[in-house]
Amino acid sequence: MIYFDHNATAPIDVEALRVAIATVSAAPANPSSVHAAGRRARAAVERARLQVALALDVKPSELTFTSGATEALHLAVAGLVRSGDHVLISAVEHAAALGACHRVGAQIEVVDVDGFGRLTPEAFARRLRPETRLVIVMRAQNELGNLYPVAEIAAAVAPVPVLCDVTQAFGKIPVRIPELGVRAAVISGHKVGAPSGVGVLYAAPGACTRPVFMGGPQERGRRAGTENVLGIVALGEVCARLDERVKRTHELGPLRDRLADELRARLLGFHEHGDAAARLPNTLSFRLEGLAGDLVLPAMDLEGFCLSSGSACASGSLTPSPVLLALGLSEASAREGLRVSLGQGTTTVEIDRFLDVFPPVVARIRAVLLEN
Ligand code: PLP
Repeated sequence: MIYFDHNATAPIDVEALRVAIATVSAAPANPSSVHAAGRRARAAVERARLQVALALDVKPSELTFTSGATEALHLAVAGLVRSGDHVLISAVEHAAALGACHRVGAQIEVVDVDGFGRLTPEAFARRLRPETRLVIVMRAQNELGNLYPVAEIAAAVAPVPVLCDVTQAFGKIPVRIPELGVRAAVISGHKVGAPSGVGVLYAAPGACTRPVFMGGPQERGRRAGTENVLGIVALGEVCARLDERVKRTHELGPLRDRLADELRARLLGFHEHGDAAARLPNTLSFRLEGLAGDLVLPAMDLEGFCLSSGSACASGSLTPSPVLLALGLSEASAREGLRVSLGQGTTTVEIDRFLDVFPPVVARIRAVLLEN
């Protein structure tokens, strides 16, 4: 199997998981328990919090562990917005951000992107109203790989707070929260090699204190429920070596570019999506004219390749990608979207193999479509 779907979930970091298993085996207890094993589990959670805080350049007390980025987005929005508040949200945010705004009954205004999926600070500033309570913009887009000028957007909308989804940027490019100038930010463990089921909310002091889950006093009352110690420790371990991850992702840039260049040269109707001037080094979003992504995906799956059509969260459903629609593509063109996202283990050999296999697969499907 050749795995080119790292933006959906990154393969597990085996070393981080090994440390996490050893830790929970040595302290098989609830971190809220007062006995020795409980205290060891608590210490492991707090050590991980420090590791994540160091990676993000924030204070441990500013972090809340959650079940993932989805929950962290809900917690952030619940803390920053009340029913009827005006929220500006980019057109390419993850569905969880939009869902969180709907849940609290916000008055949502979408900030459009251009044909390359780009966003400008001026576009946000222009739509500000006296009653705007929050701006939501991600640092890196999961389907396109586009990078957004979050610090500049935050400066343009100040003093309105910004919530930034750094889920896709974290571990791929350097992310230092203070440089973004945001009130809140979220990350997800399974995008960086921790198991799924762990995420983090960063919130500036005093922000986002309204819980979504009521119950126990965990996470200073912000998020009730026993902590996912295994996931949290694994995430902490990943964070301790995050610079290596970022460096490796940077090295993927030339591989991604060669793949794009070769596909463009070999395939008719190849269109690349996104902003070539500001994007993640690992992500290639494209479409092939007249060829629905959902025809290509299973054929490549049979050849042993894991790709994605549109966003992974939406695959399985046949609705066109909202992100590609936001670029101004027609529904039919948006259905043609494919995403290749490379990761830590990606090799030149894998890229060559893809280039050997993909064009003939496309030619076969096109021939069948022509016959019918
Ligand atoms: N935000 C972005 C940009 C994502 O790519 C994802 C995952 O698909 C999420 C949020 C949701 O993350 P999680 O699966 O941890 O809830």
